[in-house]
Amino acid sequence: MAKKTATHCSFCGRTEAQGATLLPSPIENAHICLDCIDTAASMLGLIDDDEVSEEKATIARARANNRNPHGSDTTKSQSLGNGSLPKPAEIKAFLDEYIIGQDQAKKYLSVAVYNHYKRLSQPADKNDVEIEKSNIVMVGPTGTGKTLIARTIARILDVPFTIVDATVLTQAGYVGEDIESLLTRLLQVADYDVAKAQRGIVFIDEIDKIARKGDNPSITRDVGGEGVQQGLLKLLEGSVVNVPPQGGRKHPEQPMIAVDTKNILFICGGAFDGIEQAIAHRLNKSFVGFSTDAATRRIERDAYMSHVAPQDLKTFGLIPEIIGRLPILTHLLPLDRNALRRILTEPKNAIVRQYVKLFEMDNVKLTFQPDALDYIVDKAIEFKLGARGLRSIVETVMMNAMFDIPSSDTRELTVDAEFCARQLEAAHFDANAV
Ligand code: ADP
Repeated sequence: MAKKTATHCSFCGRTEAQGATLLPSPIENAHICLDCIDTAASMLGLIDDDEVSEEKATIARARANNRNPHGSDTTKSQSLGNGSLPKPAEIKAFLDEYIIGQDQAKKYLSVAVYNHYKRLSQPADKNDVEIEKSNIVMVGPTGTGKTLIARTIARILDVPFTIVDATVLTQAGYVGEDIESLLTRLLQVADYDVAKAQRGIVFIDEIDKIARKGDNPSITRDVGGEGVQQGLLKLLEGSVVNVPPQGGRKHPEQPMIAVDTKNILFICGGAFDGIEQAIAHRLNKSFVGFSTDAATRRIERDAYMSHVAPQDLKTFGLIPEIIGRLPILTHLLPLDRNALRRILTEPKNAIVRQYVKLFEMDNVKLTFQPDALDYIVDKAIEFKLGARGLRSIVETVMMNAMFDIPSSDTRELTVDAEFCARQLEAAHFDANAV
């Protein structure tokens, strides 16, 4: 394997991992760190010592905030602690700590995100091969981890991240939010640091809901459909757009912030309900998804989902231009009983672990018996709440204990299935309210 050379200051030799904040030169592989700039400036008498200390203080503050004082994001890859962009396998391993199953989606996203940020580190050379941006689309039922994957990736890379619901976007001129407003939220999470926002990640949820509705006679005007897709296209492709700083509708007197979307990574997610039928149809197979045997139904559905292809999104009403701008397509599978059970305890911040920790802070030893975990999963399935419901069920089960125990002498609490049943019943748990 070729030896890796870390980016370093061409004057003092320090690398980013050693704390240097580097400014790149247009000449390939040449950099200077801010400390060397300071030294040179004071040697030339360009700035006095007070200014040097002030600049140093700014740098220190910015470093403490994990930001480059000049606004650009230099920390995108430092969360793994090695100062370089994490490799796809490292990204996947990090995702494994938080997301149960969904191996294909985790793998595809790890590679796509790695390539995306590698592309950003490519020196600007007009004659070189230009690596195109790889926006991503994830297809899978609601509550299976799409948002969680996107959010976790943004965390590992330490880049601004925002979630937008495609359904609130409408074509300019109609009631709803202008498409550009989805960048407002990115600007907000980046503290209006435009350079930082321009390297962020936007997760667009429910992309399937802005599908073209042309075939539906009850829709007379396609307010949320093709028009929105056309608007979105501009952003996905990469262009400079004027963003209203406070979001909402643009109006002429409002000052705008210009944001270049060229390096923003867009990850889209959608349930695309019934897409298996489209896949089966394309594969020229009949979809026996109505089989009464749940296990057979699941195997069939999963098998079809693994064949999902761009054409299927087109059948669903996404315009070809949008599909072309979302070259990475992956799928998530419905979570079965076993996955739900694992979600309760295995992820690094699993719900059960969080409660154990909460009680530990009050010096109470909390234990969940296996039958309690089975019961909670059964309820989530019975109420058709999926992974999202696990938390609300546990929350309801634990509510009385969380209220009473901090002011009592209790030092130990064991939760079993019977305890769970009693608490849910007493609380009149309402699955519809979740
Ligand atoms: P989606 O975006 O697919 O609708 P989310 O990612 O928002 O679903 O999932 C909702 C919640 O359910 C998450 O915050 C997480 O607590 C839990 N969850 C869903 N899928 C998984 C998974 N595969 N592994 C761990 N937790 C999950």
